[in-house]
Amino acid sequence: MNLKVFNTLKREKEDFVPLSKRSIGMYHCGPTVYHYAHIGNLRAYVFADTIRRFFEYHNIPVTQVINITDVGHLVTDADEGEDKMEKGARREGKSAHEIAQFYEKAFMDDLAALNIRTHGTIFPRASEHINEQIALIKTLEQKGVTYRTSDGIYFDTSKIADYGKLDPHNASGIKEGMRVEQNKEKKHATDFALWKFSRADEQREQEWDTPWGKGFPGWHLECSAMSMKYLGETFDIHTGGVDHIQIHHTNEIAQSETATGKPFSRYFMHVAFVNVEDGKMSKSEDNFVRLATLSEKGIHPLAYRYALLTAHYRSQLLFSYDALHAAQNALASLAAYYFQNKFTTGISDKEYLEKIGAFLADDFNTPKALALLWKLIKDSTVPPENKIATIQQFDTILGLGLTEHAEELEQRFVSKLIRLDSLPQNIQELIADREKARKNKDWKTADVLRQQITEQGFSIKDSEQGPQIEKIP
Ligand code: AMP
Ligand code: ZN
Repeated sequence: MNLKVFNTLKREKEDFVPLSKRSIGMYHCGPTVYHYAHIGNLRAYVFADTIRRFFEYHNIPVTQVINITDVGHLVTDADEGEDKMEKGARREGKSAHEIAQFYEKAFMDDLAALNIRTHGTIFPRASEHINEQIALIKTLEQKGVTYRTSDGIYFDTSKIADYGKLDPHNASGIKEGMRVEQNKEKKHATDFALWKFSRADEQREQEWDTPWGKGFPGWHLECSAMSMKYLGETFDIHTGGVDHIQIHHTNEIAQSETATGKPFSRYFMHVAFVNVEDGKMSKSEDNFVRLATLSEKGIHPLAYRYALLTAHYRSQLLFSYDALHAAQNALASLAAYYFQNKFTTGISDKEYLEKIGAFLADDFNTPKALALLWKLIKDSTVPPENKIATIQQFDTILGLGLTEHAEELEQRFVSKLIRLDSLPQNIQELIADREKARKNKDWKTADVLRQQITEQGFSIKDSEQGPQIEKIP
C-alpha cells in the first residue's frame, strides 16, 4: 500500500507514512449540534469514511474520533457573538442539552443512511471533557503563552514562531484584514480565546467554575484536548472542511504543539465545499439542504454518496438536483446489475483490484475508481461471476451499500425486476442461451429465444449491465 495524500501542512502530495504499523489514528472535526447537518457537512464524513475503508480494506485498523461540539462554538470564528448552542436552544424553546441530544441523534442517523462505518468510532462530547480542556489551558499558562482580558483567557499567537504554518498566506491575511475593533483587548488579531467568561448580564445554561472565573471553553480547545486524549499527542490524520484551515486548525496546532512540544497531527487533509448556486451552503445561512430534504425529493442517501464519489474530495461540488438524479440513475443501474447476477459469485479479478487500489492510493481518487467500476461491468473478458466478486471488493472501499444496505437498495431500485436465480430453471437456460447467441452476434437465434421467453410469460430487456427480466402482467 503506497498511499500518497495531499497534506495541507506541506501543500503537496506526499507519501503517507503511518506512525505505527498497528493502527492509524484519525481525528475528524465533528458537527456543532445546534442544527441538522447539511449535505455539505456530510461530505466531510463520507470522505473520512473513504479513508477509513481504504485502511480497513488493507487490514490496517483505525482509531477514529469524531467530536461532538455541544458547547462553546460562537457564531463567528473571531471569538465574538453568541454561542451557537444557546442560540439553538432559544430558537426551539428547549435546553442546550436537549438540543444537543436531538441533533446528535439526527447526525448519527445521517451517518447510518450514508453507510458511514461507525463501529468503534469514538464520538467524544466537548461538554463532557471540560476537565481536559482546563488542564490544557493550565499547561499553556505555564508555558507563558496566555493572557487575560476582561472577557476571557487568550492565546498569544505572537509567542509562537511558526504560528499559521498550515496556511501562511492567509494567516498574515487575517492580521491585516481583520477589523481590530472586534475586541480591543486582544493583543493581536490572530489571538484567540481559550476560555470565555460568562457575562454578568446573561444567565448561561452551560458554564463551569475554573481558577480564572466562571465560563466556557473556546471552540478550538476541545479538538486539541480530545484528539490528544484519544489518539496521543502526535497522531496520523486530521480532517475537516477547507474553512477550518485558516483559523480552527491553525489554532488547534498552536495550542497542541505549544503544550506538548511535539508535532500534532502529521497529515491534515481538507475537503472542498459543496456549494449552492449563490455561494456556500451553511447552517447559519438557512440555505441548507439536508439528507432528509433529498429523500423528500426522491433522492436516496446512497445516491448522494455516489454523487460525492464522482468528484475528487479536493474539488468543489456544485449542488444540483440534475446531478443527483444522474447519480441515482447510475446507482440504480449498478444495483440492477449486481442484484441480478450476484447469485453467481466467483473469484475477484486481481488486475482490477490492483487498479482500484492504485487509484485510491493516489490521494483517494474516487472518480477514477468509479469509472473503473463501470469499465469492469462492461468488460466482456471478465466472467460475470468474477465481476460480482470484484464489485463486492470494490464496494467495501466505496461504501455504496451493495452488501451493507442490500435489501434497501434491491427493494428501491430492483424490486420490479426479477432476479435471474429466482426464475424457473428452463427460463434461466433460455436466457443464458440467448446471451450466448447475442455474444456471437447470432441475432436470429437470439430473437427466437426471446420469443420463447415471452411465450412463457416474461419480458426481457437488454441493458448495458445484462438482461433485465420482468413478469408480463
Ligand atoms: P460544523 O458542524 O459547521 O462545525 O461543520 C462540520 C464539518 O463540515 C466541518 O468539517 C466543516 O469544515 C464542514 N463544512 C461546513 N460547510 C461545508 C460545505 N458547504 N461543504 C463541505 N463541508 C462543509
Ligand atoms: Zn475541530
